[in-house]
Amino acid sequence: MDTMDFVIIAIGDELLSGRTIDTNSAWLSSQIDKLGFQTTWHLTVADKIDTITEAITRAKRRGSVCILSGGLGPTVDDVTIEAICKFFGRKLLTEESILDEIKEKYIDRGLPLPKSGIPNEALIPERATALKNSVGMAPGILIEEDGFILIALPGVPHELKDIFIHCVAHFLEKYQPKNSVLTNVIYTTGIAESSLSCKLEKILHKFPEQKIAFYPGYYGVEVRLTSTTNAGFKSFSEKIFEICKPWCYSTVKRDLPNIIGALLKKRNHKVSAAESCTGGLLSSRLVDVAGASMWFEGGVVSYSNDAKVELLGVEHSVLEKYGAVSGVVASQMARGSCIKFHADYGLSTTGIAGPTGESKEKPLGLVFYAVHSPEGTFIRSNIFAGGRESHRHKTSQAVLTMLWLILEGRYNNHIWVDGSKEFLL
Ligand code: AMP
Ligand code: MG
Repeated sequence: MDTMDFVIIAIGDELLSGRTIDTNSAWLSSQIDKLGFQTTWHLTVADKIDTITEAITRAKRRGSVCILSGGLGPTVDDVTIEAICKFFGRKLLTEESILDEIKEKYIDRGLPLPKSGIPNEALIPERATALKNSVGMAPGILIEEDGFILIALPGVPHELKDIFIHCVAHFLEKYQPKNSVLTNVIYTTGIAESSLSCKLEKILHKFPEQKIAFYPGYYGVEVRLTSTTNAGFKSFSEKIFEICKPWCYSTVKRDLPNIIGALLKKRNHKVSAAESCTGGLLSSRLVDVAGASMWFEGGVVSYSNDAKVELLGVEHSVLEKYGAVSGVVASQMARGSCIKFHADYGLSTTGIAGPTGESKEKPLGLVFYAVHSPEGTFIRSNIFAGGRESHRHKTSQAVLTMLWLILEGRYNNHIWVDGSKEFLL
């Protein structure tokens, strides 16, 4: 087999009605990419035997490996196994090697066994390999025939991932291409993709054989460098990295809270949050990091003026004079959270997320955010485009970027290109 092209077929009526978003195909493709293979086609089809067999027939024409997700459950609407049997012309047989294990799972969960004593999950096509499901009931299925490989996995995302990681990845290793694609990733924050692209232009001209891609999101731009040849890739990557450096927080993972957590932990410092327009998102992003209790003290969502006064000690007169969305209030909120939580660093956010609440002086999207720190209180503002959701995400990232730069001792010399302005008290 020269190259292995993958086709992924997501099966489920709920995917076609829009009730469930197909996250399995995206996840599978990312794993396939990591292993050095490529996905050439994603298909989404209904829970119907004929539709599934038609999809597998087409997949076989397009690729050498077909991964199915969904429809492996025990209920009547799960017909993937039947479709596989029909496609390969094979019978459905009891797989003795997993029967006892599945029966045990039924008993452990207090589920009644069917009258036949054989749960549907123990039935698989003849001459197929059952792939162990350690976190759920239905096993995955692997069939190899005439150079075509079919792998069927359950739709429940954590079951699909478990079987892929523990069984499928290992099985595919033997087919891994020798000249796999070289990849380097740079995760940036506080710079738009257009600005990055301008800064990198000169270098890109010097390395026409190397590939670069920009993936922007609320939490920054992921810059992905790839090459199929070793020649020049190291030098290309180093040059690109050098230019991205002021905004690069990681080359491993898109996860700024994690980087911040590591910096705080190293110094034994704590952070707290006082959130208005982000409504808890900032705290939620911080607690997403495993072990956050070592450096995150807590947060308050202080949405109303009264909450800002009572919970954080923001002065009434300041709220009246400058309004809740102001640099002075952001600064008092950050300081107040530090005092309340006995933290070393206090973060705050206050803004106009819309669609109402704007005025001539305070446009939609205006936000003030601050970091109260042992080095002083730093306050910045932005006017973000987009709706409420975008505003919350971008604001949380902006204040985290500020904290990251302060912790790294680079705040004062940073080149700000994120459209933000410093607010001086
Ligand atoms: P199934 O294996 O078809 O019984 O799927 C079980 C559950 O997994 C469904 O109810 C969905 O919630 C979820 N699911 C199925 N397919 C997908 C998919 N492609 N992406 C994300 N979730 C899925
Ligand atoms: Mg289903």
